[in-house]
Amino acid sequence: MVACTPCDRARALCVFSKDSIKCAQCVRKGVACDGSFSAVDFDKLSEERDRLEAARTRAIEETASLNRRIENLKKIQGAMIAREARSLEALEREEEEQRAQQANVAPVLSFDQEFAALFGEPPGPDSGAGNTQVSQG
Ligand SMILES: [Zn+2]
Ligand SMILES: [Zn+2]
Repeated sequence: MVACTPCDRARALCVFSKDSIKCAQCVRKGVACDGSFSAVDFDKLSEERDRLEAARTRAIEETASLNRRIENLKKIQGAMIAREARSLEALEREEEEQRAQQANVAPVLSFDQEFAALFGEPPGPDSGAGNTQVSQG
């Protein structure tokens, strides 16, 4: 669209006036406008604009829906990672406990404990512990 003659002469911005087949400048000045606008062109542009706006609305809705799905997946992944971390921690704790138990697997036993471990019963009176009476005769 080129500027109409009055606008071209005045070096003014030639903008189509919605309520007229004249440009806004010519409407304001009340002069004849020879701009290349037409109501048909305008309507075509309006239709195209409506179509694009509808497409944009759909795209926005779709984007919002995709964003919700992405956020959901993020939450699920976050929960999975947290669970994984917890089970890893539990596993590590378990391994540490096992290591600690293995470290204590051969503690220094007292004589009684050693005896019980070997023979499954506490030492008898002849164990020589010294705190029992030695029967003679
Ligand atoms: Zn104009
Ligand atoms: Zn004009």
